[in-house]
Amino acid sequence: MNVIIFGPPGAGKGTQAQKIVKKFNLHQVSTGDILRSEIKKKSEIGKEIEEIIDKGEFATDDIVNRLIKKISTNKSYRNRLIFDGYPRNIYQAESLEVILNSDNQSINHIFYLRVSRDLLEKRILGRMICEKCNKILNKFYDLEEIKNHNCGEKYFVKRKDDSKEVIINRYDDYMKKTKPVLEFYSSRNCFYEIDGSKKIDEISLKIAQILSV
Ligand code: AMP
Repeated sequence: MNVIIFGPPGAGKGTQAQKIVKKFNLHQVSTGDILRSEIKKKSEIGKEIEEIIDKGEFATDDIVNRLIKKISTNKSYRNRLIFDGYPRNIYQAESLEVILNSDNQSINHIFYLRVSRDLLEKRILGRMICEKCNKILNKFYDLEEIKNHNCGEKYFVKRKDDSKEVIINRYDDYMKKTKPVLEFYSSRNCFYEIDGSKKIDEISLKIAQILSV
């Protein structure tokens, strides 16, 4: 099965994707993570996109679609993909259809995490990521868990684009470019709107119930 987790920045897409991956043996395709790792590697793509991402703007569709095509059609991952942070605009949504169709795959479940603007801001400003294992926690809500984390507290870092100014940019982009993707998917039978303000485990239980049917 292939799954899309969809929602504004800070909605909990990455957190939920990590949980579902474990439970259903899926492969997480987070375009944000992939792009950040290109920056870290200082690859050609990395050099091209670093400034763009730091400002909270979108990487070009061409770069993102190329990365997605390579992963989606990889034999080890096909039909066990969970997309988080992709597609982010209509062009990417249409490209994903073409990429999957041409490989005899389709999207089986789409989850939209709905969260208010205020809560998003708090989640993004508190977000901390373990550089070693990619675990996402929040310094406002998970202080104890951060302290006791297996890899060690020192590996928790803030994302450069999780600042107040950049959040506004990212949210505006979401409203302008990504919200139409919601309309593109929302009439499908496999589309589910989930209350993303609930507790992490409550949300993942709900998603797991739907995926298990
Ligand atoms: P995320 O980790 O999903 O919040 O993404 C972090 C940043 O990576 C975004 O603000 C964009 O600059 C870039 N990015 C992630 N996914 C995409 C995408 N599908 N298309 C374009 N840019 C993206």
